[in-house]
Amino acid sequence: MKISRKPEWLQKRINPSAHAEMERLLGDLQLHTVCQEAFCPNITECFRSRQATFLILGRRCTRLCSFCNVTKETPLPADTTEPGRVAEAIRRLNLGHVVITSPTRDDLEDGGAGLYAATVAAIRETSPRTAIELLIPDFGGERQALAMVARACPDIIGHNLETVPRLYQIREGADYRRSLAVLAALHELAPFLKTKSGLMVGLGETEEELGEVFQELRRAGCCYLSIGQYLAPSKRHHPVRAFIEPALFERYREKALAIGFAHVESGPYVRSSYHAAEYGG
Ligand code: SF4
Repeated sequence: MKISRKPEWLQKRINPSAHAEMERLLGDLQLHTVCQEAFCPNITECFRSRQATFLILGRRCTRLCSFCNVTKETPLPADTTEPGRVAEAIRRLNLGHVVITSPTRDDLEDGGAGLYAATVAAIRETSPRTAIELLIPDFGGERQALAMVARACPDIIGHNLETVPRLYQIREGADYRRSLAVLAALHELAPFLKTKSGLMVGLGETEEELGEVFQELRRAGCCYLSIGQYLAPSKRHHPVRAFIEPALFERYREKALAIGFAHVESGPYVRSSYHAAEYGG
């Protein structure tokens, strides 16, 4: 079943004229954000308050997730000047909390872990009080790459499961068990680090399947969770199967909190980094 008409609780407006200042700064420093690449519905709210989720390691991904708008082409080599430019943007924006993410870079020997670590180091040097949250790819499950990122000591490391195991065909190249193992390995490598995951709903999952995923995330040591409505970036992308009502989002939030998550953001417009500063760090 394909659903195209959005319900009244999903009618947020994007106002491009409010993005000008952020777009100038990003253009000046030649930086990308996932807010722009993913057509995030919260972009006006975030850019207006000078918040953004930085996309490092380029805009091209080596995977083919059918829900994602990031360009699927051969990526360019990693740019070692990028950590300094990200740090400069954070300094100019005077951010108290920043989220850094990237596409998956299966073409790089370390999956890009070294550039993540260098970005944390550059931010610590120029903005020592900024809380740093990394939203990492699975690095093919390579423990060395995960250790490199954990050793950089960000405040939070997130890795999104995105959906329930039955629907993993929409994450081509990914593996549900491997993603869970990534979170468990991070917890084991650096128990002081807070780990976080994100799920999209409205893809055809059941409440029972979601409940099982919550349990598995907790067993992997994950303490923060975000749950948001999947919205197809275009007609070419995976279709929306259901618009989840706000009351059901609230029930998911209560269920997740009841099994021990320290913080859960759950709502139609929640995205991985939405209200990220409220998770602590
Ligand atoms: S791995 Fe990440 S960036 Fe790449 S296509 Fe999938 S969701 Fe998008």
